[in-house]
Amino acid sequence: MKIAIIGSGMAGLTAGAYLAKAGHAVTVFEQFPAPGGVTATVTQDGFGWDIGPLLVEGFAPGDKGRIILEELGVSDRAPSVHEDRGLSMPEFALWHPKEYEGPYWRRERLKKLFPQESEHLDRYYRFYDRMMNLTSLARQAESARGLAALWLKLRMWVAFQGVKNKVNWNGAQLMDHYFESPVLKTFFMGIVADFVTTPSEFPALGVPSLHLETAFDKRIPTFPGTRSAQTAYSYILGGCQKLVEAVMSVIIANGGKVLTSTTVKRIIIENGRATGVEIANGHVEPAERVLVSGGMKEAFFDLVGREIIPAELITQIESNHMMESVLMVQLGIDFDPTPYQPAALCYYYKTQDLEGTVRRLRSGYFHEGKGGFLIYFPSLHSPALAPAGKHAVTIYTIAPDILAEGTWSERKEELADKLVAEAEVHVPGLRQHTLTRMILTPEDYRRRTAQKQHSFGGVPPVIGNKPPAHKTPIENLWFIGAQSESAGGVLNVMVGAQKVAKRIIQGE
Ligand SMILES: Cc1cc2nc3c(=O)[nH]c(=O)nc-3n(C[C@H](O)[C@H](O)[C@H](O)COP(=O)(O)OP(=O)(O)OC[C@H]3O[C@@H](n4cnc5c(N)ncnc54)[C@H](O)[C@@H]3O)c2cc1C
Repeated sequence: MKIAIIGSGMAGLTAGAYLAKAGHAVTVFEQFPAPGGVTATVTQDGFGWDIGPLLVEGFAPGDKGRIILEELGVSDRAPSVHEDRGLSMPEFALWHPKEYEGPYWRRERLKKLFPQESEHLDRYYRFYDRMMNLTSLARQAESARGLAALWLKLRMWVAFQGVKNKVNWNGAQLMDHYFESPVLKTFFMGIVADFVTTPSEFPALGVPSLHLETAFDKRIPTFPGTRSAQTAYSYILGGCQKLVEAVMSVIIANGGKVLTSTTVKRIIIENGRATGVEIANGHVEPAERVLVSGGMKEAFFDLVGREIIPAELITQIESNHMMESVLMVQLGIDFDPTPYQPAALCYYYKTQDLEGTVRRLRSGYFHEGKGGFLIYFPSLHSPALAPAGKHAVTIYTIAPDILAEGTWSERKEELADKLVAEAEVHVPGLRQHTLTRMILTPEDYRRRTAQKQHSFGGVPPVIGNKPPAHKTPIENLWFIGAQSESAGGVLNVMVGAQKVAKRIIQGE
């Protein structure tokens, strides 16, 4: 079949690679001059930085992302390294200890810092273990068949009884239930703000999965060795562009095309079925299947047309609550940052007012780094991303897509300066030792992704959100990527695209 795919992010490329390998004639249309969407790596003055994902889950041996690369025959082209990250709060910072102290060392460290919450911490970690047990069983059930599947479902039902009373709770209720200290509540919930979501919008049962102990110590046994849902986090060596190149090479090697600087402006629908795409110069490319990634509103309202979409789908799309964007500052520096930050990546939480910071951000009020940010040194694991003796630095934080005061073009230097100044509190000398600097604002991300409102990680895990299904009501049109049912994240969009490709290959 002739298959048109809109978007060369990891969703479009993964689907394209499976379909091309199965013998279909695949063309990927990408509006930006370079492929990769937000998984791209950018370069300047001998330095390289990722513009999107940093520490990704699912790429350790035996895990789902790695299996996709193996199935496509390109696993050796995107090697990864299993790593962990630090977490710093105004009151204390936790880095993994030199000698491994077992899977619960953070709980014990927190007990020393908050002796009055000792029992509370034990109770929270019992809840954490129950949720890990439940999600591990669910994960095993995904591939089980017959009696084994039934047995796992039964065990899941039993495991669920232990957490059932919290199924309708939100994250804020969960924290209030377990802890007194606002610092501890922020410690476990701060990551939710990274999704531009407030604790009260986030489902309580999702909290442990978002704050896995394995993210903070790579020596804690992980899936697949353990069959546990505690996954390993990895860096793609050389930057995420390696993933892009590896998967894209499968399309090219199988006779497919990836056309950059080629914007699709319309999906052709005839008698309720997708029959091709029209690109910006008016050329119509016929296709028997069309796969569209990118923004759900752009895909369904602009490329398909509201008049063609069933009313329920319009309501569903409009009622999803979306994320905001990010401000990212990339630096090249000429000193070793490890005396100040021992791990390549650390999250710095700066506020206990997660609800207020996220709500203000949605109204255009940027926290200017005072709410928190992360600092990442990709050249620590991938020396090729900086000249010898120098280091690449990424500093980023969530930011409103549209500022309440001024525009990103007008304020980008000022706001980047403020963010770097906040980062310098932890890594002194950043400004003085800057050799090169690249600023990425929400306007840049809008251009990169063709979204009218940039939402950086897909559909946030807000209670009630329901992104559109892969299979659309229009025959032969599939919706993939971070704003589809896959949900955001590199692994999720690749797994979602893999499923869609397999369904098409099987004749859907
Ligand atoms: C700053 C940042 C940090 C992140 N951190 C993480 C992380 O730590 N871990 C993690 O797993 N995930 C992370 N993510 C999320 C993850 O990167 C994304 O969810 C995922 O990569 C999205 O892939 P995609 O293919 O759906 O979309 P994209 O990568 O956005 O690709 C969509 C592509 O479609 C193209 N396109 C859209 N419309 C058209 C059109 N009409 N014509 C032609 N082309 C079009 C766009 O130009 C774009 O290239 C992060 C993202 C960002 C931005």
